[in-house]
Amino acid sequence: MGSGVVYREITVKSALTRVQGMPFAWSLNPYMGCERGCVYCYARDYHARRGRDTGAGFDREIDVKINFPELLAHELRRIRKRETVALGTATDPYQQCEGRYRITRRTLEALVASPLPLVIVTKGSMVVRDIDLLVKLDVKVCFSVGTVSAELARASEPHASPPQARLEAVRRLVSAGIDAGVLAAPILPGLSDSEESLDAVAAAAAAHGATFFSTRPLKLDPGVKPHYFAFLAERFPDLLPAAEARFAERVNPERSYVDALEKRARRVRSRYHFKERPFRTPQPAAPSQLRLAI
Ligand code: SF4
Repeated sequence: MGSGVVYREITVKSALTRVQGMPFAWSLNPYMGCERGCVYCYARDYHARRGRDTGAGFDREIDVKINFPELLAHELRRIRKRETVALGTATDPYQQCEGRYRITRRTLEALVASPLPLVIVTKGSMVVRDIDLLVKLDVKVCFSVGTVSAELARASEPHASPPQARLEAVRRLVSAGIDAGVLAAPILPGLSDSEESLDAVAAAAAAHGATFFSTRPLKLDPGVKPHYFAFLAERFPDLLPAAEARFAERVNPERSYVDALEKRARRVRSRYHFKERPFRTPQPAAPSQLRLAI
């Protein structure tokens, strides 16, 4: 449990959230808010849309959905189509408090009883605790690793597992026969978008047995911008004017930047031999598509 973090135990009325226009049909978020405190976190904007604070209200006040697993078990029994579900689209399901509450673990138990193809997105090495359940699921585990620089990670993702610990978790999962790879996201302009930086992440992913490697550029929604700009102002002031200009009127970087980044990422990916596996359950979703959605 993180120090200075307030945990509120709440009950919710539904567990599965229907998702439109994404490579998965449902999302699951056992917590609301995320104590990782990543400065660029897109989920801060979801808090803004609910009229909640996007700073400490997002990363120091965590809602714990205590009835989530039981509710999910009930909802899963009523689902007929075996569509993909994504766990951790708006919060890290393996943030610190999961060690105590075990809501994610009990969510996986519900999915083992009523299986659906599953994608998990996390920055938490705690996921290895649940290997015994993951081996029973048709699952892809996406470790978000945007940089292998421990220093940059510590500054921008202050309460996440260090990149090396996430990579070790990839190795542990793959060794157990679980499909796991790296989603290098978000890539931060001027900090982690060089070919050298992307290559270092891809090389580390390959060295740890990752089955896939994909990237996603930074996206700054209105509720996220102040936090990201404050981070730049404090840690990388030279990069602030360009970032403010780039994102002044938009949430995504300009097309030419995105195209150049994708080109670089493709070049890097081609140097390694990632062997992405399809879901055992026939599904259109693939981790490379996830970057559009998460
Ligand atoms: S781990 Fe994910 S959900 Fe949590 S703060 Fe970081 S980016 Fe946001």
